[in-house]
Amino acid sequence: MAALDFTEIASPTTGKDRDQFELFAREFLTMKGFAILTDPDRGPDAGRDLVIEETRTGIAGETKVRWLVSCKHNANSGVSVLQSVENDIRDRIETHDCAGFVGFYSTVPSSGLATKLRALEKTYPTIVFDREKIEAALLASREGLLLARRFMPVSSSLWEKDHPKAAKIFSDEPSLQCKACGKELLGEHPAGIVVGWRTYSESYDPSFKPKHEYVYWCCKGRCDDRLEAQYRKPGLIDGWEDIPDLVIPIVYIRWVMSTLNELQGSEQYSKEAFEATKELLLNLFPMVAREPSAQNHERIQSLSAIPSFLGGWGYDGGN
Ligand SMILES: [Zn+2]
Repeated sequence: MAALDFTEIASPTTGKDRDQFELFAREFLTMKGFAILTDPDRGPDAGRDLVIEETRTGIAGETKVRWLVSCKHNANSGVSVLQSVENDIRDRIETHDCAGFVGFYSTVPSSGLATKLRALEKTYPTIVFDREKIEAALLASREGLLLARRFMPVSSSLWEKDHPKAAKIFSDEPSLQCKACGKELLGEHPAGIVVGWRTYSESYDPSFKPKHEYVYWCCKGRCDDRLEAQYRKPGLIDGWEDIPDLVIPIVYIRWVMSTLNELQGSEQYSKEAFEATKELLLNLFPMVAREPSAQNHERIQSLSAIPSFLGGWGYDGGN
């Protein structure tokens, strides 16, 4: 199903915004690396839409290639671009001293036009950006998303809510690598767990102060088992939390709060555990500082129903 709704861009036949699609084309092609030589212009020269220039870098230096761009915005009617509206392509290319043709369409070329373009390609290189290709390019990068937000604000914001990306807060991408195998746990789909080890007392001792000795993160399953075998010692107890849960804003802030409460209260952190906790919170923050997805909203509701979540670490014993 289409993610972006091109009908949000004003139809070329109506109102003062009728040049919106050409403006969109100009921004899109600039993003793709072309230089715009002729801006959208609806003068008497009805055949002209845009002339753009591509710079190719080769062994012999830079080569400039001029392209004629034809913009056709049929999204509102939904009909394909017919051969009859793309007339004299060859003439238009030659008149504007171009070397190739770009079809920039908010629908698709009709089969008649597609056949004509294939024939043209024997003489002139031809590129077609149809609805799907434009959408794919917009959704593939931050720059593309910004452009989609400008021209298709409603559908792009719906799409972004369900495809959350880490916010660009630090110059580096957030990263937490599995302590056992080195795998990145904060990819497009965060995975893995955070494990903590702290001291506990078997007997009731009011003066006993639990100390967080180690905090690390790893893959679930084999990597977790391997590390557990390494860290398990008498007098230490482990607790863990799912990383996908920790990037939910409300769970994240509860974690921060419970850490602060522990520091103010009777619990202690080793230098190692404290440094790891800071690294964890810093790297999770960009994942938290974005719009929650619809899926996250559901998860928040079910997590709020679990009282143990108020307490931070899910330790079985102690306290
Ligand atoms: Zn691993």
